[in-house]
Amino acid sequence: MKVLKFGGTSVGSVESILSLKKIVEGENDDVIVVVSALGGITDKLIATSKLALGGDESYKAEFEFMQKRHYEMVDAIIDDEEKKSGLLHTIDRLFEELKSIYYGVYLIHDLSPKIQAAIVSYGERLSSHIVATLVNGAKRYNSLDFIKTIKKHGKNVLDSEVTANAVKETFRNRTQKSVVPGFISTDRNTGEITNLGRGGSDYTASIIAAALDAEVLEIWTDVDGFMTADPKVIHTAYTINELSYVEAMELCNFGAKVVYPPTIYPVCVKNIPIKVKNTFNPDSAGTTILSHVENDSKPIKGISSIKGTTLITVAGLSMVGVIGVNRRIFTALAENGISVFMVSQASSENSTSIGVRDVDAEEAVAVLNNEFSKEIRTGAMFPMH
Ligand code: ADP
Ligand code: ASP
Ligand code: MG
Repeated sequence: MKVLKFGGTSVGSVESILSLKKIVEGENDDVIVVVSALGGITDKLIATSKLALGGDESYKAEFEFMQKRHYEMVDAIIDDEEKKSGLLHTIDRLFEELKSIYYGVYLIHDLSPKIQAAIVSYGERLSSHIVATLVNGAKRYNSLDFIKTIKKHGKNVLDSEVTANAVKETFRNRTQKSVVPGFISTDRNTGEITNLGRGGSDYTASIIAAALDAEVLEIWTDVDGFMTADPKVIHTAYTINELSYVEAMELCNFGAKVVYPPTIYPVCVKNIPIKVKNTFNPDSAGTTILSHVENDSKPIKGISSIKGTTLITVAGLSMVGVIGVNRRIFTALAENGISVFMVSQASSENSTSIGVRDVDAEEAVAVLNNEFSKEIRTGAMFPMH
């Protein structure tokens, strides 16, 4: 069994979605197809919610634009009148719901994380219904029923065990090609709609592949594979044939957006290879990510860059030779759910610099100033800002 994930651009145009149909229908194997929202729709859903929140009437035009885009897509790709009318019925219902939610946000001027998560979920709910109708003999499964999260430090994180069991149960008796919306999930305890983070459809596919011991996880996107750099930035970048899980993880964690970083781990544990392929050029070999790369002669595989980061330096003359400062830094940050993706300590031991995401920076500074408040007061350490 294979799991195939198609990203936003792969379901974003008539040409690409018809290519998806051909690829999936050409599979003799049993396949599970995970789809993203139509390209750009998740951004639009968020932008529209912000307009509604601000009481800006133009949210209505943005909403209608999204509606039109989905209806035009259905018109262009589904010929069978009976199938089309069933699909349109479902799409009408989803847009009716979404319209009411936007109107609520507009009237009440409230956009809690719960409402925002409900709003963005419509992208994948819509696209998965479209793809399930387009692909002959496909059946749609609803990931809201089996991808489960729990809240930790105010963030929604995957509940791996509950999810793995629910995935096995859901797909136990599948007999045909399956289509699943990526990205979206529900809270294990409250049932509220959540998601796996931006770019999370890759992760949905990996979770399913791992739970069902798939033979391969294929990530279908808009480039010829994992490349030596982002081709949108470095035009001479070229495709890498093979990468190890460790190399791929390193590049993804540091900004190679082609695969969402948490995706690698579930399939790596099960030793399931990942293939990165181009929906617009299916014949190209793509990249295979696996545990061990043969004939590995290149010490440097690629270059990536990461935006939205902040460097915080914890410094003070009293740190020299003091044991336990780093333990306190990491414990305090971990207790507040702040992830550190880079660390550097000066050889003189009088400073430790840590890299965190911009969104976490303010809280990280507050946590560290609080942790070292006594030392800062006595002048033994410098305040962070
Ligand atoms: P999808 O919608 O299919 O999930 P993404 O936009 O998330 O696609 O990821 C594909 C994009 O990742 C490419 O269009 C490319 O610009 C970008 N990218 C960044 N780094 C790399 C890399 N090393 N190799 C390939 N693509 C990369
Ligand atoms: N549609 C979601 C996003 O744009 C998830 C995904 O595409 O993987 O972030
Ligand atoms: Mg992506």
